[in-house]
Amino acid sequence: MSSISENSIETQLINNQQETQQNKVLTNYIQFFSRLFIIKRVVKEDDLIQSIQTHFNTLSISSIIRELNQSFQALHMEIRRSIDQNTGDYVYVLITTSLDEINQIACIFDQNDLKKVNELIELLTNNNYKIQRNSLDDEYDSVCNILIELKYLNEISGILTFGPCYLVSEEASELELPRCEICNLPGTMGTFCPNTTCQTFYHLLCLKRLGRENHICSHCKTHLDYN
Ligand SMILES: [Zn+2]
Ligand SMILES: [Zn+2]
Repeated sequence: MSSISENSIETQLINNQQETQQNKVLTNYIQFFSRLFIIKRVVKEDDLIQSIQTHFNTLSISSIIRELNQSFQALHMEIRRSIDQNTGDYVYVLITTSLDEINQIACIFDQNDLKKVNELIELLTNNNYKIQRNSLDDEYDSVCNILIELKYLNEISGILTFGPCYLVSEEASELELPRCEICNLPGTMGTFCPNTTCQTFYHLLCLKRLGRENHICSHCKTHLDYN
């Protein structure tokens, strides 16, 4: 009898030890990736996969994002998958989940600049989601730079477009942007299937990634010519 009970205590100890080790790994990766997202806000999907494989190779990207989001929930923040429409990179972005995200990041803007932020977003929305930066008054310069740095806007060759953080924000979802058939993410830089009864949306760079021979609408099989 005594040997059995000793044995079970030993087993219990080993189990406890294993559990503690598992918990350590658990806290470690939550800490690791929380820090990563708080510092960077935007993390390329490829980099994230690489980092998981290097440090925590037993974990899947979806389970990590799910667990991180459980921790971020209390802060009204969430990691969402998005796309950088200028590079075609899929990214994960940390955004606040309140209805007016822009006003939340805007704790860094004063009232006057906040007005400019909203004007800029409106301008973009009313101009088919892109504007020439040099068409803007100089007074927009500083808010523009901040929004670009925060990945709410992209600037490529002097053209401003919506960046990955804005695309998946609550404001953008109110715009009801079309979703790309390939990546299922919202978009402003893309092409619609030319078949007028179909009109399925595709990001330009998602299409490019597919290769020209596959540029056929998955709904109606119409050829997609985007040039
Ligand atoms: Zn896409
Ligand atoms: Zn189609």
